[in-house]
Formats: sequence, C-alpha cells, structure tokens
Amino acid sequence: MLKIEDLHVAVGNKDGGGSEILKGLSLEVPKGEVHAIMGPNGSGKSTLSYTIAGRDGYEATSGDVLLDGQSVLDLDPDERAAKGLFLSFQHPMEIPGVQTMNFIRTALNAQRKARGEGEVSAADFIRLIREKAKLVGLDDAKLKRQFNVGFSGGEKKRMEMLQMAMFEPHFAIMDETDSGLDIDALKMVGAVVNELRGPDRGFLVITHYQRLLDYIKPDAVHVLAGGRIVKSGGPELAVELEKSGYDQFIEAA
Ligand code: ADP
Ligand code: MG
Ligand code: MG
Repeated sequence: MLKIEDLHVAVGNKDGGGSEILKGLSLEVPKGEVHAIMGPNGSGKSTLSYTIAGRDGYEATSGDVLLDGQSVLDLDPDERAAKGLFLSFQHPMEIPGVQTMNFIRTALNAQRKARGEGEVSAADFIRLIREKAKLVGLDDAKLKRQFNVGFSGGEKKRMEMLQMAMFEPHFAIMDETDSGLDIDALKMVGAVVNELRGPDRGFLVITHYQRLLDYIKPDAVHVLAGGRIVKSGGPELAVELEKSGYDQFIEAA
C-alpha cells in the first residue's frame, strides 16, 4: 500500500545546489503491515517523513511515493491527509489561540468531508475524543487548552497519538515518537499502535532505538544509512543493531 520508488530528495538551497539527503530510497510496506526504519542521526529519517507528508522545502527531485498505487507527490499536505496519510512528527507544532478539541474536530471533519463522509455530531465527537484521550492518558483539562501550547514533550507525544487514534488513518508514519519518552509513555504508544493495527492499515515506525519495538512488534525492519535502505530483515535485526550499532553502515555508505 505504501511504495517508495528510487526516491531522491535534496534540501537546503531551493535554487539548486542543495545537498542530496535521500539518494535512491526504495521501500514497500504491504497492506496491514508495520515496518520499522532505523538509522543513525542525520541519515535522513525525518527528511523521508517530511517528503511523504509534503512539507515545504522537502521535494523529491526524482522517484515516487505511491499510496495504494497512486502518487502523492503532487498533492498538498491536506490532500494527502484526506487520502488517509497521517504523520506523527518528531517536533509537534503548537497552535496558540486554538483549543485542542476544536482543532481536532475541525481537522477530523475536514478529512471526512474530503472523503465524502458527513460531519461527526458534537455528541459523538465528545464521546469519541474522551474515549481516545483515556487511551493516551490525557485528561479533559488538556483537551480544553490551546493546542500543544505549554505542553511537555511527553504530553505533545500523547497528543500526537490522540490525533492518530481519532483520525484512524489508512497509513501512519511515526517519526521518532519514542524520543524523550519514559517507559509508561512508550507503553502508551505501543498500546495505541497495537489497537489500531489491522488488515487495512499500515505503519512506518521511524526510530533510532530498539526499545519502542519491544512494544510494537514490526513485520520488518529496515536500516536507513547514506540516503538509502542498506539492510532489511525481521524484528531480530533491531535487536542486532542495538548490540552492533550503526557504524558498520555509516562506513559502508
Ligand atoms: P534524521 O531524522 O535521520 O536524524 P534528518 O532527515 O533530520 O535526519 O537530516 C538529514 C540531513 O539533512 C542532516 O544532515 C540535516 O542537517 C539535513 N537537513 C534536514 N533538513 C534540512 C533543511 N531544511 N535544510 C538543510 N539541511 C537539512
Ligand atoms: Mg535526528
Ligand atoms: Mg529525525
């Protein structure tokens, strides 16, 4: 369902002369599977997630990203979200002046509208968001605050997981959702992914460390180094990397 073909991405100088970060990255995540991408700092993991999401300044110079066989590279970030693509960022944004509940409700209804579905009623929305907020460990008071403003790193990650649970994406990409989390929060992230996992939903879990994969058992693990996938394997590859480190790949890249 997610297919990345020979993707090249350069960042930096928009008039050309930017440096190439992704250098022919190919990857396929079949429907219903959870794949992990691991790699050293600076290897391009976030560049990959930003490119898939359509963030400004991260444009493919060649290659393609296909969701269910259709290229998403010419779509706006909103249109990608409407297709069911969800991204949990390493550094979530804050939106001053916008209440969390209203933000999530507006985003959810916009996505439903783009899919030709009706709006969720106020009562259904409140019931749903309370149920999911419980799952991620956020109380009602947080839902009434301005979106992410003054939230701790851990609370922002919980908020990301709340949005993922609310939007029920077709395909979710989680960029170092585990960074800076304590064990309880890691377990929460695992619980949300495991609850959402299913035959019609795919996940790409990007992480530097193996520990998140103790809670989310991936179907496959890929190593990103030097702008390409240099090794793929089963869950045991993550454990192996934890012992051997990334140096072997940095030297080879
Ligand atoms: P990772 O997430 O694996 O740590 P990143 O994708 O964040 O790696 O970064 C990969 C490389 O691209 C780094 O050298 C980083 O400095 C560079 N880079 C990423 N985004 C930009 C940008 N907007 N402008 C300039 N350089 C960038
Ligand atoms: Mg990094
Ligand atoms: Mg990163």
